[in-house]
Amino acid sequence: MAQRDHEPAATPRRSRAGRTGGSGPLDEYRRRRDPRRTPEPVPAGPLPRGDDDTFVIQEHHARRLHWDLRLERGGVLASWAVPRGLPADPGVNRLAVHTEDHPVEYATFSGEIPTGEYGAGTMTIWDRGTYRTEEWTEHKVTVELRGERVAGRYALFATDGRNWLVRRLDPPSDPDRVPVPDTVAPMLATRQARLPRPAEAYRYEVDWGGERAIGFVASGRLRLAGADGTDLTDRRVSRAAEALGATEAVLDGELVTLDGAPVYVVSDLLHLDGADLTGRPQEERWALLDRLPLTGGCQLAPRFDDGLAVRDAARERGLPGVLAKRRDAPYRPGERSTAWKRVPV
Ligand code: MN
Repeated sequence: MAQRDHEPAATPRRSRAGRTGGSGPLDEYRRRRDPRRTPEPVPAGPLPRGDDDTFVIQEHHARRLHWDLRLERGGVLASWAVPRGLPADPGVNRLAVHTEDHPVEYATFSGEIPTGEYGAGTMTIWDRGTYRTEEWTEHKVTVELRGERVAGRYALFATDGRNWLVRRLDPPSDPDRVPVPDTVAPMLATRQARLPRPAEAYRYEVDWGGERAIGFVASGRLRLAGADGTDLTDRRVSRAAEALGATEAVLDGELVTLDGAPVYVVSDLLHLDGADLTGRPQEERWALLDRLPLTGGCQLAPRFDDGLAVRDAARERGLPGVLAKRRDAPYRPGERSTAWKRVPV
């Protein structure tokens, strides 16, 4: 969680939201960093003068993935760590932990903060641009962000000490955006004794005999739901979704145990970043799925053109069978479809 990477200062801060007070606005920033150990900028000297209109959002793969929102204000970057990232839709409040002011030089920083240092991990620039201030008080900040990925009005407001909330005030930037569904009933296969024909209309996967699970990916977290909606989320598996960053996706797959560890074997992609893919042909869904960086406890299900070879391999390994999937078929949630055949060995 972000709080672990941004521990509260030893002494309570009185300045907030970029308002400079006391000794120096970057004192806390400097106190937490040794310029000999971190590649982060640690500038000395007076604060630069700017137009209070630059913003940056950094994706920070630290102890826990979070996004750092920084707004240039009064010669520093007022900063919040947002564990789930900025919401794309209005009506959702997300935690934004107010953190120490950063130097304006930080707006172009990306790199590796070494293990053992404050905020250790990888920092990349997720978005950058300009912003316009609508309101800026000690407890509330309303801005309009004009970035490449984020464009719109956002309100940040203090709730409890360093804990703020952030919400989007505008409708989503993409009017065609479909919100990620909360539940999806998995499509089911028709059972049959022989491999289907014509063979080339299908591709083949191993039936792992695991637990069917729909995976909901958002903010680098993976929630797994069983066919009946039971929560199957496993922390060891969900951490793997951090590699997906801000990608929003709905996956279909099986939760299996390999070498004693749970692995989510992913075979289909039903939703990607605001687009419903269920009506698209299987081949197209696979092509998009193949581009996702699945790692660790999240693995891509291997698929093959030769059904007979998969059946032989399954038999050899004592696995239940083969799944044959038509290359041109849409995904029909909750339906038992003839486009998918389950062939036991
Ligand atoms: Mn951070």
